[in-house]
Amino acid sequence: MLLPGHDADAVQAAARGLADGELLGLPTETVYGLAARADRDEAVAKIFAAKGRPSDHPLIVHVLDAAGAEPFADHLPAAARRLMEAFWPGPLTVIVPRARGVASSAAGGQATVALRAPAHPVARAVLAAALELGVLGVAAPSANRFGRVSPTRAAHVVEEFGPGLLVLDGGACEVGIESSIVDCSRERPALLRPGLIGRARIEAALGEPLVAPDAQAPKASGTLAAHYAPAARLRLLDADRLALLLATGAASAGLEGVAVYSRAQPPAGLAWKWQAQPGDPAAAAHELFAVLRALDAAGAREIWVEAPPRDPAWDGVRDRLSRAAAAFTE
Ligand code: AMP
Ligand code: MG
Repeated sequence: MLLPGHDADAVQAAARGLADGELLGLPTETVYGLAARADRDEAVAKIFAAKGRPSDHPLIVHVLDAAGAEPFADHLPAAARRLMEAFWPGPLTVIVPRARGVASSAAGGQATVALRAPAHPVARAVLAAALELGVLGVAAPSANRFGRVSPTRAAHVVEEFGPGLLVLDGGACEVGIESSIVDCSRERPALLRPGLIGRARIEAALGEPLVAPDAQAPKASGTLAAHYAPAARLRLLDADRLALLLATGAASAGLEGVAVYSRAQPPAGLAWKWQAQPGDPAAAAHELFAVLRALDAAGAREIWVEAPPRDPAWDGVRDRLSRAAAAFTE
């Protein structure tokens, strides 16, 4: 059932459902989450079952603020505190040592826990109402089946899970890609997943450089080589290669069902479907998953995506596209 997220009664109903251990489609500023209370393992088990996600892949626990993070953390390392102060509420997740016996399913059995305070007003209203009912935090991975494109509109969540799931409609997600994840549980903070908040801003807030994730970092959904994939085969191509493929494909009439997502001007009458890619990384992130879903829905056989510029501002978008393309490497 789809309910308006800005309606106070809908928020109350959603919070009551969470308190009772039910699942909820929850809008956040990054993507829509499939939410359950993080402080009950039986509730979290429903997320893994609905998504078809391996239960050892840890989830992000959503809280209102740094004080709300404390019950889940063994302690908050200085790096985590700095990042919370700089970017919360917002699209940045910190990984910290987990409090013993708390949220072990949400953490996929790890000794650490991932925490984020979302900025979306509907998410915040739900977290506050649920907290009143004793819900300490809400685990909410993207509301899609394992490995598929993340939802950035309420209708996408209904597409994924059908009308049986209560979904709050909070509009189109402003950021559009998942949060940046920084592991603060080790000696030096490491960037596990790039997002809209880029490396430079994170390092400025930390006052130290981020290191590469070490080999002990758990292999988890958001960091798998192949993820975020549409049904159509996605190919990530440099501008020159894309132009060449279009020219030769046109010559051999091999472009049937090929959609192109590019910053270039469409060559006259060439591809079956041409989608203009924004030149700005925030705009590109905002629409990325909705575009992939729309091209799937239009029946694309292949999606040829012009590779984003090498600029670090594009790291988040480039990361999602590389993983989507990796699902189809021959
Ligand atoms: P999402 O799928 O957006 O909920 O993001 C969850 C991602 O956060 C996982 O796929 C991991 O990459 C990362 N993550 C969450 N918790 C942990 C943890 N305890 N240790 C390492 N990575 C984590
Ligand atoms: Mg996901």
